[in-house]
Amino acid sequence: MENTLKDFVGLLEHLVDVELKTPVAQYTEASGLCETVNLRLGQESSDDSLIRVLKDVLEYTPKVATNKFFNQLFGGRQPKAVLGELLSVMLNNSMYTYKVAGPQVLIEKEVLARCLQLLGLEKFGSGTFCAGGSMGNFMSMVMARDSRIPESKEVGVVGKLIAYTSSGSHYSNAKNASFCGIGRQNIRYISVDSGGVMIVEELERQIKSDLTRGLIPFYVNATAGTTVLGAFDPILEISKIARQYNVWLHVDGAYCGAVFFSDKFKHLISGVECADSFSFNAHKMLGTPLSCSILLVKNGEDLHNSFSNEASYLYQTSNDDLNLGKTSFQCGRRNDALKLWTLWKSVGDKGLREMVDKLFALAAHAKKYVVSTEHYIDYGIDNSLSVCFTYKGVDSSWLCKALYESGNLVVGHGSFREVSFVRLVLVNANNSFEDIDQFFRILEKFVEEHEQVIAES
Ligand SMILES: *Cc1c(COP(=O)(O)O)cnc(C)c1O
Repeated sequence: MENTLKDFVGLLEHLVDVELKTPVAQYTEASGLCETVNLRLGQESSDDSLIRVLKDVLEYTPKVATNKFFNQLFGGRQPKAVLGELLSVMLNNSMYTYKVAGPQVLIEKEVLARCLQLLGLEKFGSGTFCAGGSMGNFMSMVMARDSRIPESKEVGVVGKLIAYTSSGSHYSNAKNASFCGIGRQNIRYISVDSGGVMIVEELERQIKSDLTRGLIPFYVNATAGTTVLGAFDPILEISKIARQYNVWLHVDGAYCGAVFFSDKFKHLISGVECADSFSFNAHKMLGTPLSCSILLVKNGEDLHNSFSNEASYLYQTSNDDLNLGKTSFQCGRRNDALKLWTLWKSVGDKGLREMVDKLFALAAHAKKYVVSTEHYIDYGIDNSLSVCFTYKGVDSSWLCKALYESGNLVVGHGSFREVSFVRLVLVNANNSFEDIDQFFRILEKFVEEHEQVIAES
């Protein structure tokens, strides 16, 4: 192991060096890559040749932690969170019992308890770490089903259950409806306003219409930070409808739920304490390694009710309170808590708040530039970490692809109401205002150099 650790440190130093020199990995077609890097399995490798091929793999792998990567809802690298993650890999505990995870259980419980407290849910609340935002949505739908029709847990879904979410919500809702036995056709996509926000009157109208047809509304999934625009649904208003019609409200904060760490921005999810469940991804706004996804439940019993199962070969010591397997989806479950705990322990509440505030400041900086520069048309909304724009006369999907293949920048495009635009995502709190300025400089220089190609297309 000791030699492997030395090799590991060497490889990491190499990676950091590569990231500095080539922040955007050289684009290579997948077919060519297999020839360039020896990925074939079969024969054994000497340690030296293994290190050599690993170095090649590191070089060609897309770099998501650099200041040229804006493509996804995660990016950057918080060193203290990486430290926690590496330790959890070495420790390799599974989080189901106190017997095999010891203090790691208490660490997970501390993170959950602090989140519940900041959200005002500490009284009856509970939570778990799940494999990602998609799974958080899934688990909330299962709890909604079980609390509405308790026998569905034992005999299968009874009656026609109907779920509601906005047309801008995450695609996992559709898959989850299928996994839960609800069926994809039984999701109602509620229309959104010009800012991508769910229209609450439409939600109520749809629920009423389903009730008159003898259907059973059971679940609303509101989004705190929609995947494309970064829009926040009005949670308080939706929660009133949900209560009135006895419907479970889940708030999908995978992208931007972490605003609750900031006094300045937590108003974006005001009313979250009225929701039945809430999830957020620390691997998005808070910059921890993937995955670090938290699901919080207002009435902790619901989590236990849907996800506990007896297993005499597993639960042999301690009580359910310390055996986290009784409230999680998985059996063996990796330790996703330690990385967030290590980061949080290091920077405190204040540090997390500053990260959130910094992201909004970066987004505001980018938006201001877009709005005040005549090359651009702004398609974004206020208070969003997704800065959406087009460069006049340039096709956004062409531009993003060309920037990526030329090794300049990695950024993606999205669309809303038939308009396609560049979506610059500001989720790396290590970025500076200068990094944002540099982004636009590179983009503009690229467009200038390709005027001919653009004019001909
Ligand atoms: C990213 C995202 C998800 C999915 O989260 P994963 O961790 O990638 O599964 C769900 N909902 C929203 C709004 C997201 O932005």
